[in-house]
Amino acid sequence: MEHYRPDDTIAAISTPLGRSGIGVVRLSGAKALDIASSIFISKNNKSLESFKSHTIHYGFIKDNNSKRDDFIDEVLLTVMKAPKTYTREDIVEINCHGGVVVLGQILNLCINRGARAASPGEFTLRAYLNGRIDLSQAEAVMNIIDAKTEEYLRVSARQLDGGLSKVIFKIREELLLVASEFEAILDFPEEEVEESKKGDLLKKLKNIKKELEDLIKHGKEGSLMREGIKGVIVGRPNVGKSSLMNALLGHNRVIVNHLPGTTRDVVEEVIDLDGIPLRVADTAGIIETDDLIEREGVRRANNEIERADLVLVVLDSTQELSKDDHLILDKVKDKHVIIVVNKIDLKDGLDLSTVRKLDYNNIVKISAIKELGIDELRKSVFKLFLEESIDLSAPIITNIRHLEGVKKALEALNRAIDSIMTQDVYFELITEDLRLSLGSLSSILGIEVTKDLLETIFSRFCIGK
Ligand code: GDP
Repeated sequence: MEHYRPDDTIAAISTPLGRSGIGVVRLSGAKALDIASSIFISKNNKSLESFKSHTIHYGFIKDNNSKRDDFIDEVLLTVMKAPKTYTREDIVEINCHGGVVVLGQILNLCINRGARAASPGEFTLRAYLNGRIDLSQAEAVMNIIDAKTEEYLRVSARQLDGGLSKVIFKIREELLLVASEFEAILDFPEEEVEESKKGDLLKKLKNIKKELEDLIKHGKEGSLMREGIKGVIVGRPNVGKSSLMNALLGHNRVIVNHLPGTTRDVVEEVIDLDGIPLRVADTAGIIETDDLIEREGVRRANNEIERADLVLVVLDSTQELSKDDHLILDKVKDKHVIIVVNKIDLKDGLDLSTVRKLDYNNIVKISAIKELGIDELRKSVFKLFLEESIDLSAPIITNIRHLEGVKKALEALNRAIDSIMTQDVYFELITEDLRLSLGSLSSILGIEVTKDLLETIFSRFCIGK
């Protein structure tokens, strides 16, 4: 981005590198059509310049400078002329086959003909700089790419649609009005400010404060949706940890084995918990052992427990608590724990009062094999982290930068409100705090943002977006 030159035409492979049915090379900029036409031969020999905007054409990519007259690939080429495009510049997308070599050759051809390799996020940066989207919408693009659950995708898609921006924009407008009234008071200090007028302004500021607080409240949901919960499943060998993982995932991923001690490596999977990604590690049993590989597994399991937000301790309902069970229960006592009593389809042999005596009261009974109690377990996990289900119609902040911006805006606003209430502060300080508050909201929308901030935001994108 340091080398950002808006006159360049940029090119990138926009699909993941690997074997796939199709891959896309994308060009954006003033020379996009020229470059594409120098390497594309349409089936019916029409020139690329004659194509209407937003149409797709069948043809071949060929290196005209090459002596060989064979084609590089058979492609579909999409022409999108400015301004109604993703970047608001001319865009050409070449849909070719998805092999690394083909994609690389086509990209190289574009670069040989005058395009520059795009840096990460540069297409979206152009969309922002050309005024098509605001900053929070640009970041929503990245969230959509990163989304691990359907709900997170929906929230991000709404942010892209400008949902969150509209709410913040509205709050900012309200604050701007109040702030300008304070500025006016400051400009005409000789005029007496009526108490009722001051009361009126204070009331408006308190309303804005409430709106910001609501946004922050939903931000907690947003961060859970983004980061997920880090969980770990522990228990001695053969209690059914792998089976539980499979039941939660809903499909068979981990190989279940009858011999104790077969889950030696830590496997992490993402379970969609009503919109919150629960990242669960299934670990080797925590048992004292002389087996070297197992000992390594045990060490890793301990690390996983250290880092976890949630520990699911699996017990076997057919057997009394063993020494190993006690060892595990002792290790996790400072964590969010749910005791999962497994194999309830078999004959009961576990006295739960012993578990309760150890002060573990969040107990769910399941059968991983018969898939009994799995929904209850999901609900218990959800309840542990959020009191209520997520209201998807509320504007949810999913981005840390936005949340920080709103928090800063609220802090400054609170200071201004305090100053007005205590009455012994200079007006300059109040207006200064209101300006700070406005500034924080503006930076979320990308009004008045610094170059540094832009750089950090867009460098987190993938190339080709
Ligand atoms: P892990 O070593 O803790 O990962 O245990 P596994 O998931 O590999 O399960 C060990 C054995 O217990 C396997 O034979 C499973 O089929 C069996 N098992 C697991 N859960 C249940 C259950 O809910 N009911 C019954 N009857 N068997 C189970």
